[in-house]
Amino acid sequence: MTEGQQQSSGGDGAARRRMPAVFVGHGSPMLALNHDELTDGLAAMGARIRRDFGTPRAILAVSAHWYSHGGTRVQTSAKPRQIYDMYGFPQALYDLRYPVAGFPELGRRVLGLPGVSARADDEWGIDHGVWTPLVHMFPDADVPVVEMSVDDGLAPRQCYEVGRALATLRDEGYLVLGSGNVVHNLFEVQWDNPHGTSAADAFDAAVRDRVEARDDAGVIDYAHLPHARYAVPTPDHFLPLLYVLGASAGERSFVFNAVRQQGSVSMTSYAFGLDA
Ligand code: ZN
Repeated sequence: MTEGQQQSSGGDGAARRRMPAVFVGHGSPMLALNHDELTDGLAAMGARIRRDFGTPRAILAVSAHWYSHGGTRVQTSAKPRQIYDMYGFPQALYDLRYPVAGFPELGRRVLGLPGVSARADDEWGIDHGVWTPLVHMFPDADVPVVEMSVDDGLAPRQCYEVGRALATLRDEGYLVLGSGNVVHNLFEVQWDNPHGTSAADAFDAAVRDRVEARDDAGVIDYAHLPHARYAVPTPDHFLPLLYVLGASAGERSFVFNAVRQQGSVSMTSYAFGLDA
């Protein structure tokens, strides 16, 4: 990555520099209502991006909760609906509004990117994988969001390669965001355990070691890490990390919210390009 790239998108506080790429752990949807060290971490990351890079033109959000079959989908709607794709939570969560706009220009840009094979799909909306962290990162809902699906037909390496193709968007003032969880096993959740199991801790640490060393091949090959079957029983929540790694190849990581909770959930989050 070159240093000090200036992005002259101009206008009302629009982005001036190559935007970071960020992977956030979202965990329980209750994240949206919480105020704790994790939500403080998300708020600090959003504030830091705004302070150091300017307000992103828009966010391209790869969501674990849009796990699509039959190809990659991208939103192009100017007014995506917020969707409440979770069940059995307090009414306050369903009453929470995050009235963010879409950004058709970004959706169309993604559809035309070499290395990305996707089609427009506005049937979905802004799901809780995206709005629960963004409530804290950009609480005013003033940065437009375009969601991109995690394509269940892609191998881990292919997800990474799609991420590589997205990197150029960062130079255009767009924030690339992946939302998932490095460890996410709902069958093994221990609701009253504030920490992680030893297996969750070990897998999270193994991934972190490789991310920090930029051993991307080692992360792509996560299925061979110890406790992988426990940590990643299905790939939907892990794969957004690979899109973000691809979009930030070679860049140093900043790790935040590095905790496990409820036994089998990791909230560990990574930002790249902060020191550009
Ligand atoms: Zn989730």
